[in-house]
Amino acid sequence: MSIQNLIRSNILNLKPYASARDDFKDFDMEMTFLDANENPFETGLNRYPDPQQTALKLRLARIKNCNPNQILLGNGSDEVLDLIFRTFCEPEKDNVVILPPTYGMYGVLANINNVQTLKVNLTADFQPQVSRILNTANENSKVLFLCSPNNPTANSFEAESIEELLQKFKGIVVIDEAYIDFSKHESWVSRLEEFPNLIVTQTLSKAFGLAGIRLGICMASSEIISVLNSIKPPYNINQLTQEVALKRLENLELVNNQIELINAERNRVISSLTSNKITQKIFPSDANFILVKVDDANKRYQQLVEKEIVVRNRTKEPLCENCLRLTIGTPDENTKLLTILKSLI
Ligand SMILES: *Cc1c(COP(=O)(O)O)cnc(C)c1O
Repeated sequence: MSIQNLIRSNILNLKPYASARDDFKDFDMEMTFLDANENPFETGLNRYPDPQQTALKLRLARIKNCNPNQILLGNGSDEVLDLIFRTFCEPEKDNVVILPPTYGMYGVLANINNVQTLKVNLTADFQPQVSRILNTANENSKVLFLCSPNNPTANSFEAESIEELLQKFKGIVVIDEAYIDFSKHESWVSRLEEFPNLIVTQTLSKAFGLAGIRLGICMASSEIISVLNSIKPPYNINQLTQEVALKRLENLELVNNQIELINAERNRVISSLTSNKITQKIFPSDANFILVKVDDANKRYQQLVEKEIVVRNRTKEPLCENCLRLTIGTPDENTKLLTILKSLI
């Protein structure tokens, strides 16, 4: 498959913005920088940040077991997803394939970019319908979004299905792994060399506990990364974000302990809900949230709000009638939720 043929021609022919520091990214502290119209007096933040986030990418590459030139960082994964639309999808002509019920941003970004979405619902047990997806896609289908573990259903997709889609879909396959750190499945990052059309996205917003700094991670072939890199805003990852992310990534043991605790709490919440009379079905979870079918989602949602607990009501999503999505909180928060849910009539 030729990736070049999938890229919009205006992007292929683009002359990227050259930022003042691009030629001096191997920061030599002896240099006197009079090139970027910064205020020269030290505040700790008076200089523009490293546009290529060299130190952070090196660290991430080691953790994710890939090459730094296979990584692009975004202001949240949402920025990464938007860059993917702008690279591959010609407005009013191309389309993307999404698998409802899934993450709402794919559809929103498609609308913003004036790109059509082709929807192929998941099966009743929330797996991709591979042959239907392949039959629905046409010559203008540039990107297929697979969210695994999937939001809001919480399950992972079967590896065989993902692999078949990677082999047979004639465009880019994005695997959104926002919840991979909670999952028992391995990341698809280890398969980048095998599938030139694969883009994996991850984030520091969930397991890494840094939703506030906005850091999304995109991993793909160096060919794809260099194109995405050419259209990203030059200084999209600010200095504070780079510093805080590096610090957090030094303390992986702390992160892993929190993930273990959250996963244990998930099992506790599931077992308590199992014996709750409002529960009709608990779907298997491979993430830090669970999708629960209850007797009356609108009513239960309102009752929880009255008790000052906010969950996500997904009843209007396809295949999610009367379903609530519950994020796993601290042990105290979960106990509060479970106590209230038991008392509802
Ligand atoms: C939360 C979430 C993200 C994370 O988005 P950020 O912009 O990195 O915070 C991405 N994809 C899915 C499916 C999510 O649920």
